[in-house]
Amino acid sequence: MASGRAYLDWNATTPLHAAAKAAVVEGLEAFGNPSSIHAEGRAARALMEKARTEVAALVGGEAENVVFTSGATEAINALLAAGLCATCGLDRETPCRVLVGATEHAAVLAAAGSAATILPVDGEGWIDMEALRAALARGGPALVAIQIANNETGLIQPIREIAAIVREAGGFMMVDAVQAPGKIPLDIKSLGADALVLSAHKFGGPKGVGAIVFRDGETRLARAFILGGGQERGQRGGTENIPGIAGMGVAAREAVQALADAEKLIQLRDRFENHLKALAPDVEIVSQRALRLPNTTLFAVPGLAADKALIAFDLDGVAVSSGSACSSGKVKTSHVLEAMGAPGWVKAGAIRVSIGPTTTWDEVSRCLSSLERQLLRRGKAKTSEVAAGSHEDLAATKNNADAA
Ligand code: PLP
Repeated sequence: MASGRAYLDWNATTPLHAAAKAAVVEGLEAFGNPSSIHAEGRAARALMEKARTEVAALVGGEAENVVFTSGATEAINALLAAGLCATCGLDRETPCRVLVGATEHAAVLAAAGSAATILPVDGEGWIDMEALRAALARGGPALVAIQIANNETGLIQPIREIAAIVREAGGFMMVDAVQAPGKIPLDIKSLGADALVLSAHKFGGPKGVGAIVFRDGETRLARAFILGGGQERGQRGGTENIPGIAGMGVAAREAVQALADAEKLIQLRDRFENHLKALAPDVEIVSQRALRLPNTTLFAVPGLAADKALIAFDLDGVAVSSGSACSSGKVKTSHVLEAMGAPGWVKAGAIRVSIGPTTTWDEVSRCLSSLERQLLRRGKAKTSEVAAGSHEDLAATKNNADAA
């Protein structure tokens, strides 16, 4: 990176792609209201409709089935919290039963509400298919939300198989596809999803813009989830965010191109993981045996606490994140690792490295060097504790880590 830092946190957000940035500027300059019929309005609308086509192409869908939102969280809330899916013909007064995976993003878990059924996962993070079948068999129309790929572990769920089960039971399948663009191919129809949720800032676009893409005209919202001037074909009121939408469209186009380089990501990720194992033979790479995104490594090394490691990485110029969510200044244990039944030391020590198309080996090796220094310091700390004769203290430290 030009700044001399190594940015290895692409699952949190991606740098703005240069072409997307140019599109944002073009969107700012096209100042007309896209609902106006004069030339200025038509120019803004043209940019928006071009972006709609590009976003549809990213997921093999049709432009008329794309609803722009302020991001994935809004899209998820529209589908889950508002309970407006048209497939089952229900509305807020008689909502669908909502079934969600235990390792979904916080936006899905929160929007699903406390009455939702949480589907368990196994130790790798796979959805328990029997639990899904059993929950669907309990009757009543169901709205099922499962992510295609997990933001922490990178695990890819077998969405085709899950969607087939949901469809057979007459349910509505919402797929959080936020982590997929540019990393794995997406095709809404072959996946069997009724609706996909996207967020531009996860694939080189600007923040604060996302979309719901419906499979076809049948699976749209029964009524608006934001009441207003009838924009977005009556589904989301409010003047559209033209700069954001224009940036998202170009980022979607670039994400399709980036798929051709996914193999390079895998090679870089694998090279990183091989060095990691050489550096720390006792490292645990989470979901390593499962199908994962090409860019994600979640790992833990015994005795290395994630909160302290993150600060050390940052001081060494390396941006990574922990498997634990940080909110209001407190580090919380990851609900993903919790649901997977990960041991205490993995939950306390999980560090996520996520790379992108412009990541270099130089950046990755900076991360490895920082880790090496941290491990040496940890080794020294352990040696001095042993020298002081505190074997019991060491055992206690380990037990505490296991309980965290
Ligand atoms: N779903 C997943 C899997 C995510 O990783 C995120 C962002 O972290 C979201 C949903 C929410 O996206 P947004 O930032 O657009 O609200």
